Amino acid sequence: MGNAKMTQDEQPAAILHNPSAQGNVLLVCEHASNRFPSAFGDLGVDAEAKQSHAAWDPGALAVAKHMSEVLDAKLVASTVSRLVYDCNRPPEAAGAMPAKSEKFNIPGNADLSDEARKQRVDQVYRPFLSLLYGTITDAVNEPVLATIHSFTPVYNDQPRAVEIGILHDSDTRLADAMLALAPQFTGLNVQRNDPYGPEDGVTHTLKLHGLENGLMNVMIEVRNDLIATPEDQKNIAEMLADLISAALEKLENEVEK
Ligand SMILES: [Zn+2]
Repeated sequence: MGNAKMTQDEQPAAILHNPSAQGNVLLVCEHASNRFPSAFGDLGVDAEAKQSHAAWDPGALAVAKHMSEVLDAKLVASTVSRLVYDCNRPPEAAGAMPAKSEKFNIPGNADLSDEARKQRVDQVYRPFLSLLYGTITDAVNEPVLATIHSFTPVYNDQPRAVEIGILHDSDTRLADAMLALAPQFTGLNVQRNDPYGPEDGVTHTLKLHGLENGLMNVMIEVRNDLIATPEDQKNIAEMLADLISAALEKLENEVEK
């Protein structure tokens, strides 16, 4: 493969959507894309794996984009498959460049050299980090971080009943408020730190950009069968946007009391 450099005609590794937005929510979508930049090849995975939840979070970007319109929020999204580099993992995590994801083997990630790992970090993770960091730094008012994900309804042959997961690390403020209001805003099965939680290493972005900067933060996981069509994506996005807005209002009122 030689020197794995992104060619100039390829997109950047991360994109800022709705850059002129004025709202105080900052949306993040680390698993937005199943694109495999030519610099890294397709890692030897087949078409089924490329379309599957292993390569990306199907529907998550569409939901995040709708939310960014409703909330007037900026949105930072990766444009590279998480099998190339998972932007919600630090470079030292095994899951950053996984050799196996659920039932899929990723041959191109087996026995990666330190140099190959560094190229992925430099060309996928660092640009994503610096775009997100810059967007936080440039914000006039302290942003509230919300990361948008989707999960597969069946994992290792186990069906999942949870429909929306509200995930948090040690700052539970926004998640608590959203969970308290969820029954009013959704008719769905909404759960705390489910189907994943901090112990699974999924709160990397929340910790690095939220906790480190003292920003309120939450991670939202939507079961991907609920956001398979444009209409469903829009409906769920509006519901989640309303839920976040109501939760932020509730928190503001509590502070004033
Ligand atoms: Zn995800």
